[in-house]
Amino acid sequence: MKPKRIRNEDRPVIHKYAEVWLNEAVELLRPGFADAGFEIPPVHLSVGFSTDGYKPAAKKNTIAVCHAKCMTVDGINEIFISPIVYEPVNVLSLLVHELIHAIDDCKSGHGEGFLKISYALKCADNPSVSVLEFREKVQQYRAIADQLGRYPRSGVNYTNTFDFRQAAH
Ligand SMILES: [Zn+2]
Repeated sequence: MKPKRIRNEDRPVIHKYAEVWLNEAVELLRPGFADAGFEIPPVHLSVGFSTDGYKPAAKKNTIAVCHAKCMTVDGINEIFISPIVYEPVNVLSLLVHELIHAIDDCKSGHGEGFLKISYALKCADNPSVSVLEFREKVQQYRAIADQLGRYPRSGVNYTNTFDFRQAAH
């Protein structure tokens, strides 16, 4: 029998604020990055939209973003995780993706430099990573999510709340 998925709202509240949850997540992810040979640089982490914003009618929306060091006043990578995403395992995989951009300082986009790191970390969006390898990674993310408790966001649900007829006016 498949183990029952834990819903975010059923997890215990351990961290009251999403920024704290995200920063604690980085600390729990850090050993895995180190094992793969990569050091996570200092990062600023927030819940927020990317510079593209969010357009409910758009085919594709940016759900997380990492700003390069040269774009920030203090020279520290600035990461935003969209409020659309709130399931802890999804947040963690997104966070890992953005942390890879931070390690690469956004130099290679999703090119070779990025792929080298995302392969070492067995990310699902790397085509060379097998389903089995990614599943093992998800197990690690689940264990981290269990330590972090509820992601203190409910998720903004535009698909249910956005009225397209209203938008047409
Ligand atoms: Zn990316």
